[in-house]
Amino acid sequence: MKNRRAFLQSLASLLLLPSLANAARPKLRIMGVNGWIPASSLGYCLTHEHVMVDFIEAGKISKDRYDAEEVYRTALPFLDDLRKAGCATMFECTPAYLGRDVQLLQRLANGASLQLVTNTGYYGASKEKHLPAHAYAETAEQLSARWVREYEEGIEGTAVRPGFIKLAADKGPLTAVQQKLIHAGAMAHLKTGLTIAVHSGDGAAAREELQIIRGHGVAPAAFVWIHAQNETDFSIFREMTEAGAWVEFDALKTDNHDQYLRFLGYMKAHRLLHKVLLSQDSGWYYVGDPGGGPYRPYTEIFNAFIPLLLRNGFSRQDVEQVLMRNPVEAFAVRVRREKD
Ligand SMILES: [Zn+2]
Repeated sequence: MKNRRAFLQSLASLLLLPSLANAARPKLRIMGVNGWIPASSLGYCLTHEHVMVDFIEAGKISKDRYDAEEVYRTALPFLDDLRKAGCATMFECTPAYLGRDVQLLQRLANGASLQLVTNTGYYGASKEKHLPAHAYAETAEQLSARWVREYEEGIEGTAVRPGFIKLAADKGPLTAVQQKLIHAGAMAHLKTGLTIAVHSGDGAAAREELQIIRGHGVAPAAFVWIHAQNETDFSIFREMTEAGAWVEFDALKTDNHDQYLRFLGYMKAHRLLHKVLLSQDSGWYYVGDPGGGPYRPYTEIFNAFIPLLLRNGFSRQDVEQVLMRNPVEAFAVRVRREKD
């Protein structure tokens, strides 16, 4: 009986077409820069990448600092390569005041035939240098209302709507304004159903963020711990995911595959692979650098890391779990309350 089941499972894995991986969740949908993406169309998905970033401070940021045409020409071949490698959807995680340009993203999505997802929310990490003055002057309710407005009416006069709330904090404990951002994110989630993804300096920060979010009655399943790889204590990955939150290991590069095998091996051993997201934090056009500076390709996971996983005890279903099913579950737009 056991052998028969194993045989059927391996047969199923051979027959499982990627496009069917999310067929069981027909009602779930993600908001992309070109509108709703049904779960069945999300395909292979990278949940944390960048097209363009401007590290000048919030007070000096401006669309006059770059030539959108040059950025388009620079980024397009890399996005083309990603689509050809098998990816269908990429989340662009650059927030406002750090280089978010949704018209550029829409052009690139169309040019590369790749689904792109953008965000609302503010970046409170890097000692808060990317926060606009109103992040200090306004209450959490007021900040939340700005983000909800972007979701309901579109971003900066366009029809492009955010697909998630991107926030950021340094290592714990959080500063007052970082705490306020998380409160505002939780409030915006309850109005929009957008997932709250937070760049977190370490596990202590992620823990505090989750606590704030839960204080609003929002379920941990609406929270993504971005940059979990910054934490050395693996037990916090268990603690957070067993509570229902998502952990995202998102800076996979050519030289750290072993480390990422350890992260995924640990999560698989604890049967927590269904709460893991994987990405590269790659790209991007650096505003201010001649020609945009060095651009890191988006294809490492597809061309090198998936084959490595399959040679190291992971199944095709594991790969589809992490890169297809989990992104749908994590980012499908719906309100998630603590008691649901
Ligand atoms: Zn990033």
